Amino acid sequence: MCERLGLRGRILIAAEGINGTVSGPCAATEDYMRILGDDARTQGMEFKVDEAEGHAFPRMNVRLREEVVTLGLAEEDFSPAELTGEHLSPVQWREMMDQKDVVMIDARNDYEWELGHFEGALLPPVQNFRELPEWVELHRDELEGKKILTYCTGGIRCEKFSGFLLREGFKDVFQLDGGIVSYGKDPAVRGEKFAGKCYVFDERIGVEVNRTEGAMVVSHCVHCGEPCDRYVNCGWSSCNGQHFCCELCEQEVMRYCSRACGEAALVSLAAEANESD
Ligand SMILES: [Zn+2]
Ligand SMILES: [Zn+2]
Repeated sequence: MCERLGLRGRILIAAEGINGTVSGPCAATEDYMRILGDDARTQGMEFKVDEAEGHAFPRMNVRLREEVVTLGLAEEDFSPAELTGEHLSPVQWREMMDQKDVVMIDARNDYEWELGHFEGALLPPVQNFRELPEWVELHRDELEGKKILTYCTGGIRCEKFSGFLLREGFKDVFQLDGGIVSYGKDPAVRGEKFAGKCYVFDERIGVEVNRTEGAMVVSHCVHCGEPCDRYVNCGWSSCNGQHFCCELCEQEVMRYCSRACGEAALVSLAAEANESD
């Protein structure tokens, strides 16, 4: 159906539901939403719409998975349909943020919150959602007896993460309904208290959230340390590591994320030149 409509994007399908992003001309994306809305299996599904200048993905990719999001708990895993934290609207979230005895947990990966996050949130240094349970175990004392607010990009990962926290015995667990994306679109809060941009898994990389005067850049160029939210991939193909690099430094270091990568690239270029001799 996506191909027929000329859409591009990434979609995961599992028994628990479907999650993904597609891009295409307005008429095509409207058809897409209408068709899924008419299908009994996907009725009532929530859509978030953003404008973009062109396609945000290079191709269409649909994958079947055991679960849409997984905490890697194997047979101990559970469905958000059984257990999940209380949903807060963006306005309720904004009010609750300032209360005493509240902790906010960013349920995303480190390379996501490095680009932007809620002011004052706990930022677990994880590279994968599956590492969160271990982080919770290590930080149990900090969380015990507090109201726990969890958030992620679109609210999908929190459906699971907040359920996990409840099952771990935490009593007051709340999640931001619709995630950062909905928070940024809500006209009443206008993204207030979100610092930096929201990382997204498509070619845009980052989208604006905070539309108040408090918006700022929280990340820094890895080379010069100046505020910078320009994510690029390392020019050394074996690394390809995503890092912040300002335009000035890029000219100097040719996009290599570190001196080691620059040297490795030189060595390999020299070896290639030798081989072709
Ligand atoms: Zn720089
Ligand atoms: Zn590198």
